[in-house]
Amino acid sequence: MTLRLHNVTKKFGSFTAVDHLSLEIPEKQIFGFLGANGAGKTTTFRMILGLLDQTGGTITWNDGDIGYDQSHLIGYLPEERGLYPKLKVQDQLVYLAKLRGMPKSASIKELEYWLDRFKVPDYRNKKVEELSKGNQQKIQFISAVLHKPNLLILDEPFSGLDPVNVEMLKEAVVDLKESGTSIVFSSHRMEHVEELCEHLCILHHGTPVVHGQLKEIKRSFGKKNIRVHAD
Ligand code: ATP
Repeated sequence: MTLRLHNVTKKFGSFTAVDHLSLEIPEKQIFGFLGANGAGKTTTFRMILGLLDQTGGTITWNDGDIGYDQSHLIGYLPEERGLYPKLKVQDQLVYLAKLRGMPKSASIKELEYWLDRFKVPDYRNKKVEELSKGNQQKIQFISAVLHKPNLLILDEPFSGLDPVNVEMLKEAVVDLKESGTSIVFSSHRMEHVEELCEHLCILHHGTPVVHGQLKEIKRSFGKKNIRVHAD
């Protein structure tokens, strides 16, 4: 299922946050969205998810609108992490997966797999507020992937994580792609994008300044010239 944005624009009053953004996010690949603070990455994700209406342009998935009936096919890791601090990890993740159509027994099994994989097998019955920020982020990642979405949108998935956890998440992202998930993630850092993505878009003040296949971009510009400044 290819995700296509055509001339997508978002204005907040007279301020243009995203300006005529056109891109194609191919299926079963990893697409990187790069840009400094305020470039328009989160706003674009929110429009794709239908959390914000675009001011202009169209967003289609497999040539149709992304309707409510397809929302269970999408997983989202928001930049503002959104878990309930007072609820236990398993209770809330299984509940959220159920809302996305996954039976309880299947989500418990899947959760066990991910907790083992992320080396936190004993977190099932911990309240989210008892976990460190980094571990909360891993749990939020699991929440985005538990229902096995076809399209996974990750907003700054690596920010605030130590290098060991960054590696763990990167490996998970690559494995998910290899098992057929289409992945879009945003980052401030070129090295994450370079390592993981086949395609990328660099946004600057809501405008795509570079867009295409990473290897083509590197060939045209040279690695040095596409380095955006880190956070
Ligand atoms: P960051 O890495 O800081 O999250 P970003 O690339 O995700 O940056 P956005 O959050 O999409 O950037 O914001 C793009 C611009 O739109 C920013 O200037 C931001 O202040 C503005 N903006 C975002 N949401 C709103 C809103 N609801 N009302 C007004 N302006 C907004």
